[in-house]
Amino acid sequence: MSTAPAAEKKAQANEFNPFESMAQLFDTAADHLGLDRGLREVLRLPDREMTVAIPCVMDDGRIEVFIGYRVQHNFSRGPCKGGIRYAPDVNLDEVRALAAWMTWKCAVVDVPFGGGKGGVICDPRQLSKNELERITRRYTAAILDILGPDRDVPAPDMNTNEQTMAWLMDTYSMHVRKTTTAVVTGKPIALGGSRGRTEATGRGVLFTTREACKKLGIRPQDARVVVQGSGNVGGIGAMLLHREGYRIISMSDQYGAIRNDKGLDVPAVLQHLKATGKLQGFAGADAIPGGKSQLEIPCDVLVPAATENQITSENAPRIQTKLIVEGANGPCTATASRMLDERGIMVVPDILANAGGVTVSYFEWVQDRMGYFWTEERVNSSLEQIMVKSFEDVSSVSVKYKVSMRIAAYILAIDRVATVYRMRGLFA
Ligand code: NAD
Repeated sequence: MSTAPAAEKKAQANEFNPFESMAQLFDTAADHLGLDRGLREVLRLPDREMTVAIPCVMDDGRIEVFIGYRVQHNFSRGPCKGGIRYAPDVNLDEVRALAAWMTWKCAVVDVPFGGGKGGVICDPRQLSKNELERITRRYTAAILDILGPDRDVPAPDMNTNEQTMAWLMDTYSMHVRKTTTAVVTGKPIALGGSRGRTEATGRGVLFTTREACKKLGIRPQDARVVVQGSGNVGGIGAMLLHREGYRIISMSDQYGAIRNDKGLDVPAVLQHLKATGKLQGFAGADAIPGGKSQLEIPCDVLVPAATENQITSENAPRIQTKLIVEGANGPCTATASRMLDERGIMVVPDILANAGGVTVSYFEWVQDRMGYFWTEERVNSSLEQIMVKSFEDVSSVSVKYKVSMRIAAYILAIDRVATVYRMRGLFA
């Protein structure tokens, strides 16, 4: 048997491994910076990883054991920050990659956090609210020693929400015997959450889309936008873009996609989604196949805001857009990224485009520690300032090093983290 298919399979497996993708981009940026081998090793590997068993008494009395992870990629610039994901297929490599992306993301927007991420292998759709609460509390108790406002501050991610964060905050507070709101962000406003947090990632997508469109000379009213995913990032991002005059011609969810080239009435789409749980059946659009084929619709701006590995070496040649704004984490593989660069498609990378969420999480943490809460206007205008400045910072690095926005974002982030290491020195 020829070895070619095996080699191809391995290359493909590597392409879809998010940690490999992150590591390839990291290496390219580190080469541009001339980063020495030692520091490269330090920054590449997670500082700490924890795997925990989470026994849970199910509603029918059975005991099931779930597996949970918390990865702290780097805490040189401050406490680790990053979401907790509940999914049947979440795995350690994925959590490692997401934790590293958080380190680079926090450095790109220059908030004083390192990167962390957590995950629990479970299918939330099959679990009752009581079971989810017990899993969340036991997971929190299991990782409690490495959490804390000065150590590691989780947030919601896929399939977790403000209720999950409220349970986490309560469990931590019961253990340390004082209410500690700053241990987690993305909480309900009544429990110390920040105004504007729910919309923050979508709003960041809006600001970065606007800045990129200015650079490309695309006017909002001329922009046809395709959005993959209709959740916190995709749904809210689509809504905010629609309000600013962009024409959203297609949206999708995990069940399928809808299309109307005249422009979707996004508030009505989201209302339909809320009422029925699916985009399918929305009267003002055609139902079209979802998944990756939606990404091939000709458009001016493509916003993948669902999950990772959506644009790969297989479909990158068929993407027909001028601009990609990565609402999701890791929607383009590293290989696809290079192919898109070669095709002259501008990509606003995830660690910049979706950094609005962590930026407002930072505001939430600051407000909790001060015990003083900001107005929504203050949150939104502070977010805008940071997103616009970060976009400009990344653009300048891209011009200076003659690299894509993605590699530029990594260069900026790695340089900021490496500078801190050089100043602090290595504790031995
Ligand atoms: P969510 O659970 O609110 O929404 C996910 C959406 O994607 C849903 O509409 C779901 O139906 C859809 N979806 C899932 N698989 C799909 C597929 N194969 N094709 C089309 N649609 C699909 O999640 P979210 O919070 O919006 O997160 C989406 C992405 O953004 C993730 O990669 C997450 O890590 C990233 N992100 C989220 C935030 C945040 O603040 N929520 C911040 C930064 C990055």
